[in-house]
Amino acid sequence: MLPKIFTRKRISPLDMSPEEFRNAGYALVDRMAELLKALPKKPVTTGEAPSAIRAVLGQESLPEKGAPAGKLLEEAATLLTEHSLFNGHPRFMGYITASGAPIGALGDLLASMVNPNVGAYALSPMATEIERQTVQWIAEMIGYSRDSGGLFVSGGAMANYIGYLTARRARADHDIRKKGLKDKRPLLVYCSEETHTWVQKAADLFGQGTDAIRWIESDEQQRMDTAALERRMRTDLLEGHQPFLVIGTAGTVSTGAVDPLADLARICRQYKLWLHVDGAYGAPAALLPELTELFDGLSLADSIALDPHKWLYSSLEAGCVLVRNPNHLRDTFGYQPVYYNFEGDAEDPGLNFYEYGLQNSRGFRALKVWLAIRQSGRSGYVRMIREDIELADTLYKKIKNSTELEAFSRSLSVTTFRYVPPGWDKDSVEGQQYLNRLNGELVNRLQDSGEAFVSNALIKGNYLLRSCIVNFRTSLSDIKALPEIVIRHGRAVHMEMQQEKGLT
Ligand SMILES: *Cc1c(COP(=O)(O)O)cnc(C)c1O
Repeated sequence: MLPKIFTRKRISPLDMSPEEFRNAGYALVDRMAELLKALPKKPVTTGEAPSAIRAVLGQESLPEKGAPAGKLLEEAATLLTEHSLFNGHPRFMGYITASGAPIGALGDLLASMVNPNVGAYALSPMATEIERQTVQWIAEMIGYSRDSGGLFVSGGAMANYIGYLTARRARADHDIRKKGLKDKRPLLVYCSEETHTWVQKAADLFGQGTDAIRWIESDEQQRMDTAALERRMRTDLLEGHQPFLVIGTAGTVSTGAVDPLADLARICRQYKLWLHVDGAYGAPAALLPELTELFDGLSLADSIALDPHKWLYSSLEAGCVLVRNPNHLRDTFGYQPVYYNFEGDAEDPGLNFYEYGLQNSRGFRALKVWLAIRQSGRSGYVRMIREDIELADTLYKKIKNSTELEAFSRSLSVTTFRYVPPGWDKDSVEGQQYLNRLNGELVNRLQDSGEAFVSNALIKGNYLLRSCIVNFRTSLSDIKALPEIVIRHGRAVHMEMQQEKGLT
């Protein structure tokens, strides 16, 4: 007799009937729509401690038996809507985390259901072409070459790693894929002090060590000093080193500064170096005609990293890397193992994204971005990004006019500032140290309050609050409310610190 499994239709614990899926899905979508409605009235975050969250979640060990899908989704929706930080909240202005476009949430559901493996064309025909088209649209958005190519990755750091590795493969004076780094002239990377920490991870993990990074000083506006760059490079060349890569940043993480990209492109051409631009945050602002000058030179980069989950308002995760000549990608990452049958028709071959990057199996990250681009169009993005910048500028001006807040910078949609008690001596060493402590505590206080969420920056030894608006839900009323919230908490922290001082 055949075992039971072969004599009846197989019913797996993880499968769902179309009917069950429909019911659970409708209920979940209802919850999501309620969240959208309630969002502006909710706190940005509950600010609960990890132990409180663990208590809510419960400490049961691995469940032995299963449970109905609908009930579990209901439970998960409650846990997450009641105990999350909402970066889609109108008053979330911390770090560089965008309000995710709702169409992307629905797109993710679709992507997950069809579940294409976008590593190979044969496994994901339509998904591959949608990803290819999305990459091309992003290149078009920022005025990059139409012949460029690239792919989606998890975020800005990963996109930058791909640029880094591609540059190294293309510019090293030997076959680095075969020979590696051993006994070779040291390969050097040049970037400003304001460069995001991904470059340390890259130099470290890809075998060169962080000493291979030449940190170039930046000017008053946190942009790379290109004269210092050239001086340093000449010295290194004389000493037998091998510069291979210059990294320019288009929108630094602290203050939104944009390096002089056209100068960097000229230097790279002269010394035959690869120019990679980290535009994880700022590159989408190149869409705005009024910023053409600021981004001059971006289109000359050999590669560009850009984060759709930042200023293209995609939900996490979505990073994108563009390479002017995409053959460099295959030349850096491609292998054709015997167990793959992905070559396709020689006349009309499919694009196999696994040959373009570090990942093998790949999810369909591009769909949510493709949908958002189509929903909003170029003009929609111009409007949203322009409004974010205008709001940041309005905030800067409001702070400038405040007697208790001090404005430091505004570039792109980043504004930095701090709380200064009236009449405070900020020039003495003790006065400055006090302000640093006060504003450090103030950031924590604001973040936990749930009223508004800003993050921090350190400029020339000054600890600052930092607002970054990549949020299509933030409006003028939120910006008007922020100074009052900051001052109220600032006064409270100051008073407590004064009382403590009085006690000791
Ligand atoms: C955010 C950011 C990164 C890192 O991107 P992730 O998406 O967090 O991996 C790198 N560089 C810059 C300039 C950034 O703003």
